[in-house]
Amino acid sequence: MKELLSEHDLRRGVREMAEQIARCYARQPLTILGVLTGSIVLLADLIRLLEMPLRVGVVQASSYRGGTTRGRLTINADLMPDIEGRNVLLVDDIFDTGHTIQEVVSLMRQFHPNSVRSAVLLRKTGRQEVAMDPDFVAFDIPDEFVVGYGLDYRDAYRNLCYVAALEPEDLTGDHP
Ligand code: 5GP
Ligand code: MG
Repeated sequence: MKELLSEHDLRRGVREMAEQIARCYARQPLTILGVLTGSIVLLADLIRLLEMPLRVGVVQASSYRGGTTRGRLTINADLMPDIEGRNVLLVDDIFDTGHTIQEVVSLMRQFHPNSVRSAVLLRKTGRQEVAMDPDFVAFDIPDEFVVGYGLDYRDAYRNLCYVAALEPEDLTGDHP
């Protein structure tokens, strides 16, 4: 695989996104909801860069059956805290077609929050299929399948400190 974003790049990009988020909400209280599982590393880094009164929760969305192709999207909000009247920021790893973020945003609206915005680490170029854009994006990347910093391939590689694009030979073999 080949490295796309180094640990240093990631730290800088996440810090810049945190600054934009801080400017947007000023000191208003915020509920950050991480979309499981890919957002966990970004979530942990991002919340420590924000100084407003913060609640943190998670919502589960999965659209991959393993491998690199999309399956049917399922969303599980059972783990989510009460968001009525709150400003909600959804945090996800990557905006690819945009269907995941769009569906999670519309589900969140049913719980009557004050506002819902979204922040993603990565956005893939030329893949968007929905009308909505994420409110905060740390990096735009080429259309390649990427892993690391929370993103997986068949549940492997989430713990990499960098983001790498898989190459054809990475897509076949088994992983420990
Ligand atoms: P979307 O619904 O925007 O097409 O896809 C978003 C979800 O697909 C992400 O939350 C992520 O789980 C998965 N995904 C899309 N592209 C990639 C990729 O390049 N690498 C990995 N690991 N997951 C991806
Ligand atoms: Mg995901």
